[in-house]
Amino acid sequence: MSNRTFTMIKPDAVGSNYIGGILDKINAGGFKIIAMKYTQLSKEQAGKFYEVHSARPFYGELVDFMSSGPIVAAILEKDNAVADFRTLIGATNPAEAAEGTIRKQFAKSIGENAVHGSDSDENAKIEGDFFFSMTERF
Ligand code: UDP
Repeated sequence: MSNRTFTMIKPDAVGSNYIGGILDKINAGGFKIIAMKYTQLSKEQAGKFYEVHSARPFYGELVDFMSSGPIVAAILEKDNAVADFRTLIGATNPAEAAEGTIRKQFAKSIGENAVHGSDSDENAKIEGDFFFSMTERF
């Protein structure tokens, strides 16, 4: 069990001015922000980040969406970070997300669902390394 996970506030949520609201919920959930940046992915970078999904039917749409506007990327720290953050963000489809979760409150649809959260310790490290160099984290 690792104590770190990686998140992105996706273009839909940044465009709707939900950065502050989402960061409040992240902090209230007991997560400490140990690296953070506001940036925009190129199509190529979004394609690389989501390469594991390249065989899925929604891949093209996902890459277009994730490169369509700015995002906020962050590394978060908490005991049991990966699993606890998945619980805090809720189901992929906001219609199925539990009350009180970030996606229930802020997501628009199954694709434009406000936040990303790593699904394993291994991917949390890979995804954090994708965005942050050693001098950009603590
Ligand atoms: N996604 C989509 N259509 C789908 C399923 C997923 O556009 O039918 C997008 C959505 O933005 C999701 C991302 O692809 O967050 C990655 O999918 P995954 O199943 O890994 O969901 P997550 O782990 O983000 O809940």
